[in-house]
Amino acid sequence: QETNQTWQARKSAVVARGQGNLYPAFVSHAKNAEIWDVENNRYIDFASGIAVCNTGHSHPDVIKAVTEQMTKFSHTCFMVNPYGVGVELAEKLVQIAPGDSPKKAMLVNTGAEAVENSIKIARAHSKRRGIIAFNGGFHGRTNLTMALTGKIAPYKRDFGPFPADIYHLPFPTTLHDISVEDSLKALHTLFKVDIEATDVAAIIIEPIQGEGGFYFAPVEFMLALRKICDDHNIVLIADEIQTGFGRTGKMFCCEHADVEPDLITMAKGIAGGMPIAAVVGKTEIMDAPLPGGLGGTYGGSPVACAAALAVLEIIEKEQILDRSNQIGAIFSEHLNGLKNSYPDYIGEVRQVGAMIGIELVIDGDANKPNPTMTMAIISKAQEFGLILLACGFHGNVIRFLPPLTIELAILEQGIAKFKQLFQDV
Ligand code: PLP
Repeated sequence: QETNQTWQARKSAVVARGQGNLYPAFVSHAKNAEIWDVENNRYIDFASGIAVCNTGHSHPDVIKAVTEQMTKFSHTCFMVNPYGVGVELAEKLVQIAPGDSPKKAMLVNTGAEAVENSIKIARAHSKRRGIIAFNGGFHGRTNLTMALTGKIAPYKRDFGPFPADIYHLPFPTTLHDISVEDSLKALHTLFKVDIEATDVAAIIIEPIQGEGGFYFAPVEFMLALRKICDDHNIVLIADEIQTGFGRTGKMFCCEHADVEPDLITMAKGIAGGMPIAAVVGKTEIMDAPLPGGLGGTYGGSPVACAAALAVLEIIEKEQILDRSNQIGAIFSEHLNGLKNSYPDYIGEVRQVGAMIGIELVIDGDANKPNPTMTMAIISKAQEFGLILLACGFHGNVIRFLPPLTIELAILEQGIAKFKQLFQDV
């Protein structure tokens, strides 16, 4: 009989330590918001496989769609023999992307690939080289996306050299007291000192920094970036890989600011766990690369496309956007209550829809992050039957990303477990 421990030993022997795991809990099966390990321990999932299973684990509609597609055919390559299910998904993505401009889509496998392709497209369209990204931002683990990522450890350490022509600006956050004006001033200084605005192909921003600590880009900042991009013909790319598909209570987070980006990168919540991602954007930009310039062997797998179409239907049918807001409100009430009881330990409670984070600090001081306590809570979560994640520039934010289909009784149970765990640590 294999146990978590024996699997962990087998894994350590053959899987590179760089691909480490947070919890030594080897999954046996999962259903909606619950996961069971090989020893039949049950966990309430507040991570959703990092914001992927927005419509829960093993949703019956996704199983049906995947099984039916797999029975018909599983792969021909969208670039060799295309298929309707890929076209249908592109049609849907174009339809749900924010804004009225005519749009097109392209399909790949992972978030990092979507970001890479958004940069290729922006450069091909603008014939410019410079890319502006933000400190604390996260865009992936390939060479270009690591370069865009605004935090070194552990994502970039020892992996350089990185491509040139990438510039980082401060993201407006309460962390380090950076205001919207400070960030915009830094942008204008960059244009004067480092790179002319006319050499900048794109600005890429997460409307809420995910790995960076759940910082919401203020509405006025998003509007200012939109205007700067319009004034200088710069492509505005919204990386909605973590924030998309209902996670923030809207289909896409940019809708909170009513901003239409030129390109959006999508992945994670798109297909209930099947690996698929997309770039969706304005037609004249999307069509800049020549035929054959975009794609890949597996991009837009028919099985993953079928799963994505099922997920989009579930989002509509099960009113997932409303559920996301409802889940967020429940968390917010409980976590603010906890903060009132423990003001010395909890800084900000950040919540937009069901993207919820609490910052752990020392002496109630936002400038004194407490990553040690954060890691102590994360490490102990398994004992309490919870799957939790941390994030943040200083690793001191606990993030809650439950499936948006979570049963309310299980949600309450999970929150009660978290409160016990918090008090225990
Ligand atoms: N961009 C953002 C905002 C992300 O949160 C992530 C993953 O966490 C990525 C890009 C990279 O996606 P993937 O891990 O699928 O390559």
